Amino acid sequence: MTAQTRVLVLNSGSSSLKYQLIDMTGPTPGADRPARGIVERIGEPQARGGVPDHAAALRTVGEELAAAGHGLDSPDLLAIGHRAVHGGTRFTEPVLVDDGVLAEMEKLVPLAPLHNPANIAGIRVARELRPDLPQVAVFDTAFHATLPEHAWRYALDTATADAHAIRRYGFHGTSHAYVSRATARLLGRDPADPGDFHVIVLHLGNGASVSAVAGGRCVETSMGMTPLEGLVMGTRSGDLDPAVVFHLAREAGMDTDAIDTLLNKRSGLVGLCGDNDMREIGRRIAEGDERAALAFDVYVHRIRKYVGAYTAVLGRVDALAFTAGVGENSAAVREASLRGLGGLGIELDSVRNAVRGSAPRVVSAPSSRVAVAVVPTDEELEIATQTRDLVRGGGSAPPPPG
Ligand code: ADP
Repeated sequence: MTAQTRVLVLNSGSSSLKYQLIDMTGPTPGADRPARGIVERIGEPQARGGVPDHAAALRTVGEELAAAGHGLDSPDLLAIGHRAVHGGTRFTEPVLVDDGVLAEMEKLVPLAPLHNPANIAGIRVARELRPDLPQVAVFDTAFHATLPEHAWRYALDTATADAHAIRRYGFHGTSHAYVSRATARLLGRDPADPGDFHVIVLHLGNGASVSAVAGGRCVETSMGMTPLEGLVMGTRSGDLDPAVVFHLAREAGMDTDAIDTLLNKRSGLVGLCGDNDMREIGRRIAEGDERAALAFDVYVHRIRKYVGAYTAVLGRVDALAFTAGVGENSAAVREASLRGLGGLGIELDSVRNAVRGSAPRVVSAPSSRVAVAVVPTDEELEIATQTRDLVRGGGSAPPPPG
């Protein structure tokens, strides 16, 4: 009998389906990834390279896997791990999917109307194709389930908030979990038992969020009921006076959908300067472009505020970890965000910071009280690990909430 050693990780977005086939054997599980890819333009006309729906997208994934010699019918598949965006308060750990779980995920759709339906569609189709295989959903909100109530509760009328499930949930949890443990390992701690290790994780991708993690448990995070709150992002505003929304409705005559689109798709870096790619913004700044320079300044100023706030939340910080597209690649963002924070014990080493690389690394000065690290995230590996652990029973599960 063939050993079941591989996890297929599926990330179903509204218009794309990403996949990775990850081998979980050997001393470093995940070192071997026999196949990976992306099917894009789901729901767009075939003439423009689109596929009609998630079922067709997954069939395409199956064909690509088969062409690479790893068809969906392969006996070495252990399970399929699905990225799921919003678990509400119901799903605080990875879960084996059955009809009941899918029904409960459906109930969470109002909280994540863009993301959850795509996740659910991906899971349904995968179950039809391989009904015999365990399917595991790993939620982006789960790592933040340990937030204390004073951190997750908004200062709103409690009855209204509770009636509508309005609270901070936080997102990018899979990444924050992975990076906080990888940072502990990098600094010589046991990631499964980091003691009182305190780390601030800055996930700076197209979406961006920051979390404060104490002893392996998340205690604060910047995204809220939806991924709109917190840092300045590629196209999202992040923090904003909520009264801006009333003002736009009353003075600019915008309806709810128009304001939603403005804040989620036409704000952030793209709203400030027309570009959301930090590489392009860097090029424009080098050419003396003032709008790009201002967008950069607003972006890093917000990061500094959160670093200060989360330093206060944690009381003591051992490490600060930068991850995702911008965090891993932009020395300029790291430098500008942390400049002058010696008073908080944060001193970047400009030479180390400028060195490019793909491995986790320390970029602070030897004298820095807080270690600053660049730690590439790997959400697919984290999903595969949590999927394997759940299916096999035991293993390195995250610490229980409570
Ligand atoms: P997503 O949120 O889509 O997963 P990523 O984590 O891949 O995003 O980050 C994408 C962003 O990373 C890009 O929009 C770009 O701004 C930034 N980025 C990628 N490479 C570089 C680089 N070499 N220098 C600066 N920024 C980069």
